[in-house]
Amino acid sequence: MRFIDPHIHMTSRTTDDYARMREAGIVAIIEPAFWLGQPRTEVGSFKDYYSSLVGWERFRASQFGIKHYCTIGLNSKEANNEALAEQVMELLPLFIYKEGVVGIGEIGYDDQTAAEDKYYRLQLDLAKETNMPVQIHTPHRDKKAGTIRSMEVCLEHGVAPHMVIVDHNNEETVKDTLDRGFWAAFTIYPHSKMGNERMVEIVKQYGSERIMINSAADWGISDPLSVPKTAALMLEKGISMEDIHKVCYQNALAAFGQSGQMNEADWMDNNTVDQRDKFSDNSILRGGQTPVVGEINTSSSATDSNIIR
Ligand SMILES: [Zn+2]
Repeated sequence: MRFIDPHIHMTSRTTDDYARMREAGIVAIIEPAFWLGQPRTEVGSFKDYYSSLVGWERFRASQFGIKHYCTIGLNSKEANNEALAEQVMELLPLFIYKEGVVGIGEIGYDDQTAAEDKYYRLQLDLAKETNMPVQIHTPHRDKKAGTIRSMEVCLEHGVAPHMVIVDHNNEETVKDTLDRGFWAAFTIYPHSKMGNERMVEIVKQYGSERIMINSAADWGISDPLSVPKTAALMLEKGISMEDIHKVCYQNALAAFGQSGQMNEADWMDNNTVDQRDKFSDNSILRGGQTPVVGEINTSSSATDSNIIR
């Protein structure tokens, strides 16, 4: 079974993660631009970060047979530094047309401040002008009101619901999101919040239309195998393969594919890697290692038993 993880921050992850993800069937991922754990102080830091999302990280994923896409945007936390935010806004148009960019994201509200509102709206206008999908980060505090507000503001700016992926939903927000015609994404964190047991119940109750799951794995405690592990649990709990395929693959492809930058052929037609490849003269290999060249082997040395194959 093939999977897409439509929200994962690989910049913070290791090559072991890439190898395990591919082995578990993850063929494509989307890495939203986000906050790095401490605030950036210069616009150049944003520029280099965006460059790595469309450059080095994309290459690194390819070396493990995973197609890497990203969304580019100014995250809500850093929107609160207005002097810097102004400069970042000028940078965005230089990156959103690059190969592999499938949307504006992750944007939205954190503390729901006036500055967050201002830059969220400006980025929605940019998405509208460029006809790009939007990946919304909904606030963890005051979640329900913040999620509804995020969607209302999209509508106010003329951004169509089918172009918007609303992330970090839970039982309290899913109905509002689906009723308004938006895509409802769920982040599966280990030991907390939206665990995979709860996700199974949501799919049982709401079905698989416009629902997708992701790991949002980053530098915090998170699991890059959340998508395949939740799929395995869904199967065990009697959810159909068709529904699992939609929630763990097809809906992400349909939503972000609207960018014109993400096609199934990108990974179906090319299932080989060549670890002799280099990016700006840099390789992922270290002294004396043997490069993997050729077909991806997804069946060997499995370490996680609860993965569907
Ligand atoms: Zn994120």
